[in-house]
Amino acid sequence: MMTNETQRYDAVVVGAGMAGLYMIKRLLDLGLAVRAFEAGGDVGGTWYWNRYPGARVDLESFDYSYSFSEDLQRDWKWSERYAAQPELLSYFNHVADRFGLRQHIEFKTRVISAEFDESRDIWTVELSTGRKVEARYFISAAGVLSTPKPPELEGLETYKGPTYHTGLWPHEGVDFTGKKVAVFGTGSSGSQVVPKIAEQASHLTVFQRTAVYCVPIKNYALTDKMREEAVATYPERRANSRKSRYGIPAQFPSTKVFDVSEAERRAKYEDAWGAQGHLLAFRMTFADILSNEEANETVANFIHGKIKEIVKDPEVAEKLSPRGFPFGTKRPILGTAFYEAFNRPNVSLVTLQDTPVVRVTPTGVQTSDKHREFDAMVFATGFDALTGAILRINIRGRDGLELKKEWAAGPRAYLGLATHGFPNLFFITGPLSPGPLSNMSMSIEQHVDWVADCIAYMRERGLTNVEANADSEIEWRAHVQEVVDGTLYQKANSWYLGANVPGKPRVFIPYLAGHGVYRAKCDEVAAKKYHGFTLSAPSHKRTEAKVKAASA
Ligand code: FAD
Ligand code: NAP
Repeated sequence: MMTNETQRYDAVVVGAGMAGLYMIKRLLDLGLAVRAFEAGGDVGGTWYWNRYPGARVDLESFDYSYSFSEDLQRDWKWSERYAAQPELLSYFNHVADRFGLRQHIEFKTRVISAEFDESRDIWTVELSTGRKVEARYFISAAGVLSTPKPPELEGLETYKGPTYHTGLWPHEGVDFTGKKVAVFGTGSSGSQVVPKIAEQASHLTVFQRTAVYCVPIKNYALTDKMREEAVATYPERRANSRKSRYGIPAQFPSTKVFDVSEAERRAKYEDAWGAQGHLLAFRMTFADILSNEEANETVANFIHGKIKEIVKDPEVAEKLSPRGFPFGTKRPILGTAFYEAFNRPNVSLVTLQDTPVVRVTPTGVQTSDKHREFDAMVFATGFDALTGAILRINIRGRDGLELKKEWAAGPRAYLGLATHGFPNLFFITGPLSPGPLSNMSMSIEQHVDWVADCIAYMRERGLTNVEANADSEIEWRAHVQEVVDGTLYQKANSWYLGANVPGKPRVFIPYLAGHGVYRAKCDEVAAKKYHGFTLSAPSHKRTEAKVKAASA
């Protein structure tokens, strides 16, 4: 169906990362005409943009991968326990080619706006190329960590040297050999890039705003035997992951920190630090790490001790020791020799609590104590997370409702999947779903499957519109808040709360009850004929045949 000016599709998908690719596949399998638009030059999303040295996954490659195709799981041979960015990018390219997805994607094309036309039940989508397209369904797979956030530093525009954000890294790479380099930020990206730049730079200055808990990665090359074992046990591994709290094949413990002796506790922590060495190892030691402050302190103290053992200068070790927020309430980090980097003679640490930046100058950075000159600056300063990419699109729903205004006090979305007033708009790993608090590949597949199944359900019944009910959305928001209120998560200035972006409403955005619990709730809603959503026929028939999902 085509007019001269405007191409019509059944569904428009924003983004061609892990979520967009699988969404395209599921919709094509349903027989829909699908078009995806991707701002980047190719597929891969996160792994297309974040090409900084040291970038790698912090969950095991066997888990951070699609589970929808047994053949794909069998054929793809991960080379390392934790794949690095180039391998992940190859994987997503392979998926795009293997399943014939690339021809349905337009690259270097940003979605600027989307407006719902109630008289026709159609979204009109405006693109950065100036073109407009139309679609029944408008699906955001725009990413939770895809809107890089530069630092707010006075005078930054006057700096004459090159600057790089880790989330927008140049494809040709950057050679820092012999250069005086500044890195701002010590989150997951900063702690990966710091040791790598330290190997090249003549001097590296790390500007730290908040110290982090960084657990050493236990990465290794995978052997054929390991791969064969993983392939053989995949059905069980994935089944366990789907039921689990974090979307990985490990069950959450029931023992609490003070149920065991100090020696037993210490042994568990040594194991989590050493032998286990995975992102969630500490959170999986005891049940109350993230709900009981005293319990949490035992982990914090253990890691402080490790930092003191690793970092030779006691003053630097203390500055690198996180204080003032509980372990795990900002995303903990799986690092490769991060603390060790500060033992190098060419690396120095500047703590911004002690000596804040006064301004950036044409040649460097003036802090409250001195001026330092730099040949290049790297910003590992994170993202406008969770809502940034969605709200960058000017989305207007029924009655001219503007999503930006509707979410001005924080996002509202029933199950994190859809929001009232915006029919046929879906979010993959949207706000108020577990998203980044679980293995994202599991979360993405679960959301994509739910959305595709919902569309299939409607098509089978001659229904075209689905909209979250206002009351279900309000109840869901309250439930998300109730869950977080029982934890320590709100005690940290994290991006989960939007705290890293000035002016962003301070609302805890991810759903904390866990991947398995959340999946069961979504399944239940679908089984009850999409309870809490209103499903309806095309607008011209609506007066005769309005179908309330709850009462169907
Ligand atoms: P993305 O991969 O972010 O893809 C979204 C795409 O949408 C982007 O390519 C973007 O260009 C495009 N887009 C956005 N807005 C528009 C628009 N308006 N128009 C057109 N295109 C648009 N998660 C884990 O579970 N484990 C990990 O180890 C892990 N490591 C990470 C490492 C880094 C450096 C980062 C930044 C994130 C990491 N994450 C990790 C989270 C990661 O983002 C997800 O795992 C996953 O890649 C998200 O896939 P996605 O398709 O939802 O989003
Ligand atoms: P981040 O966790 O938000 O860290 C940003 C860092 O920059 C923080 O240390 C922050 O300090 C600092 N910062 C921000 N603005 C600053 C300013 N104006 N001046 C000085 N410092 C400033 O971002 P990220 O490291 O890119 O990671 C984001 C998320 O992506 C992670 O939490 C994780 O989910 C994912 N990720 C995963 C991996 C992986 O290992 N697989 C790698 C990278 C990213 P404050 O803490 O004080 O805000």
